[in-house]
Amino acid sequence: TRTPVNVTVTGAAGQIGYALLFRIASGHLLGPDVPVKLRLLEIPQAVKAAEGTAMELDDCAFPLLKGIDIFDNPTDGFAGTNVALLVGARPRTAGMERGDLLAANGGIFKPQGEAINAGAADDIKVLVVGNPANTNALIAQQHAPDVPAERFTAMTRLDHNRAVSQLAQKTGAAVTDIAKLTIWGNHSATQYPDIFHAEIAGKNAAETVNDEAWLADTFIPTVAKRGAAIIEARGASSAASAANAAIDHVHTWVNGTAAGDWTSMGVVSDGSYGVPEGLISSFPVVCKDGKWEIVQGLDINEFSRKRIDASVAELAEERDAVRELGLI
Ligand code: NDP
Repeated sequence: TRTPVNVTVTGAAGQIGYALLFRIASGHLLGPDVPVKLRLLEIPQAVKAAEGTAMELDDCAFPLLKGIDIFDNPTDGFAGTNVALLVGARPRTAGMERGDLLAANGGIFKPQGEAINAGAADDIKVLVVGNPANTNALIAQQHAPDVPAERFTAMTRLDHNRAVSQLAQKTGAAVTDIAKLTIWGNHSATQYPDIFHAEIAGKNAAETVNDEAWLADTFIPTVAKRGAAIIEARGASSAASAANAAIDHVHTWVNGTAAGDWTSMGVVSDGSYGVPEGLISSFPVVCKDGKWEIVQGLDINEFSRKRIDASVAELAEERDAVRELGLI
């Protein structure tokens, strides 16, 4: 029998946590034959709510779930963990300046990076969901010098999945016919969903759509502003779709991308495509044997170039701001 994989979820008592934990426990994160132990990390005032979620997890009698522990500090929460999903973050509240937001999140992601560095398992993989996800991932990564930088990733899979779905609806294709779509840059309104290399049933997507006005004025803003549209409609932010994307991200990282396809992940740049080295930016990546690699050699046209550059410039600004605040 396999040794259970330890999975830490921060913000476990939140909305995304509630949608995420049951799917991890039922085998969707790592696979239908991989037992898991859950480590739920919360701030002290939310521990009781996490206990309630743990009771419900117990009540599901999931065959793969081999234990649930709840912690209120990162040192214990990340001890021996193999997969860390950093969901809990400080949301922007009315009147909050960007500097305040970054500082509040620095207070969360710096100690979490340190705790991962000190006590996580050697094969630790980290996904940051909590916003601003790319920069929170950078803060955690910078405080984990003994962990290979490529183990820290930020989620743009929800943006990727949203883009796949919008493209399928526009063209009448099935989502399973769509491949090689890319989200570039920051998980923010500046992100760039790129269909110039995407394929629909093997045919180039941009040529199939052949409508640059739709691309610029409908597709890109719909994908980038989808979060706000969901808040407007539901009266609450997206949670189940964000949890689903976190599941997809880790599942793909661990189990690999399909032949002839790639996915989008926020990963540490090696300078590819002119993205400054060290920034955690979204790229097209292929995953194999538990490792990701940036897809190389794509031609970037002018339409794409200016949008990638704008989003990457925002990431560089966020990095400079956290540097000035002494957070990295
Ligand atoms: P959610 O579970 O709804 O969201 C958590 C984080 O995910 C937010 O930063 C949110 O960003 C982000 N996020 C990323 N992508 C998406 C998306 N597509 N849709 C929605 N959210 C997205 O927040 P809750 O307030 O319900 O729960 C947060 C929990 O985290 C609380 O229980 C709190 O106690 C906990 N927490 C735990 C910490 C810790 O463990 N140390 C630290 C801080 C908080 P955005 O706000 O921009 O939507």
